[in-house]
Order: sequence, then structure tokens, then C-alpha cells
Amino acid sequence: MRNLKNKIIFLGTAGGRIVTFNLIKRSGGFLVEDSGHYLHVDPGPGAFVYLHHLGIDYKKIDLVVLSHLHLDHSADVNTILESATNGGKYRNISLFAPKSAVIGEDRVVLPYLRKRLIKEEFFSEGSTHTYKSWKVKAVIKHRHHKAETYGLFINDKIVYVSCAGFEERMLELYPKNAKLMIINTTFYRKRPGVEHLSVEDAELLIKELTPKRAVITHYSMEMLEKGIERVADELSDKTSVEVIPAKDNLILEV
Ligand SMILES: [Zn+2]
Ligand SMILES: [Zn+2]
Repeated sequence: MRNLKNKIIFLGTAGGRIVTFNLIKRSGGFLVEDSGHYLHVDPGPGAFVYLHHLGIDYKKIDLVVLSHLHLDHSADVNTILESATNGGKYRNISLFAPKSAVIGEDRVVLPYLRKRLIKEEFFSEGSTHTYKSWKVKAVIKHRHHKAETYGLFINDKIVYVSCAGFEERMLELYPKNAKLMIINTTFYRKRPGVEHLSVEDAELLIKELTPKRAVITHYSMEMLEKGIERVADELSDKTSVEVIPAKDNLILEV
């Protein structure tokens, strides 16, 4: 099963307050498709509606994964769980997430929905989680404004570098030579004190970890003003790895 091609569908590409909450770009995270079933990563605001517009059957979502509880990554998690189970009629979905997103003081998953999950598992650094054909490893716990946040490795193919301040240990803990590396590259320039990745950080990650292809996403206004195509070309030139700028509704095969 794992050798078959997976599709990745980017529902949204917004990062940062202005781009997200003025709907300059969509949010909603991304889907990984495997034989007509889906894993939904970070279902931010609008995911429920965008899935409907794409004609995706909510009942085919096997698994929801949250990298962290921030609203731009989790706003539609409850709607997706409720839709996938058709209001509790079916029992067909699992959730892997940081514990803080599910049972912490600032939890974002509604307690009554937890009973509808087949599997509910919490990440810790280095933990591996499986459900049906899905395998998710929480490879690293990030520094991200005190929110419990994990970088993920999905089905031994797709690295997801979620929101983070750059740390050297990313270069040790993230797997090398992955098929695809999705990097939440929020800023063009590094901003001291703001725990989001910049283009300079992405360049280092790509150079050191040498994925087959990389995708940048989670854009701030600064990135949109620079031009995401231009930034991706610049990264491709500097790293000799194909770097693709994610767009809302972009579909990639991997
Ligand atoms: Zn965040
Ligand atoms: Zn974010």
C-alpha cells in the first residue's frame, strides 16, 4: 500500500494574522490521499467548506492530525470530526494530536467528540502512531510560542515542518532524503523573537536534509509581496532541490 502514489491537496496556504484572518489566502491545512481515503493535517478555518467544494466525502477522512492547537491549524477540527462520523452515526475516524490540543486548559477538541474516535493518540518527541494504512511519526517537538507543536513524518515519505522557531536540532531529528518536505515558511527575513521559519531557515533545512522535493507554504504578507514563485526559484537555485510554492488547491503526487 505504501509504495503507491499519494496525492497531497493543499486546502490553504495562509500563515500569519493578516493573510489568514483577512482571507488573503485560504487556510485549512492539507490532505494526504491514499486509495480514496484521506489524512487531514491541520484543518484550519474554512476546511469544512473547501472539502465540500472539492467534492471530498467527509466519511473518507480516516485520520485528523494536528501539529498544534493554534486556531489557524485547528479551527475546523470539530466540524471535520462531526462530518466524518455524520454526527456520530459512523465510527470511522481517529485523531493524533498534542495532548494540549485535546485535554489541556486551552484544548480545541470538544470533549464529547472524543467518544466518537476509534483511536486518540498523543504525540511526544519521537513517538510513532499508526492507523489503517497511515503512519505518523512526531519527529521533533518545536519551539513555537509556548504551544506544544510537533514536526511530523507521514507514511515514511512526507516531512511536515510545521510552525517553529529554527533550532539546530531540526537538522539532526528530521529525516534525510525524504520524498517531499513541506516547510511552513512564514517570513522572508528572520525576525528575532518570532518563532516562525524564514526563507533562510528553509534554505538550511533543504540543504542539510536534501529532500527530493520541497514545498513552501504558510505565507505571511511579506512572502506574498516578495512573490512566492520568485522565492521558490531563489531557493531552488541555492539548494539544487526543486522547491514548489504551494497554492490554495494545489495537488501534488508523491
Ligand atoms: Zn502556530
Ligand atoms: Zn501557524
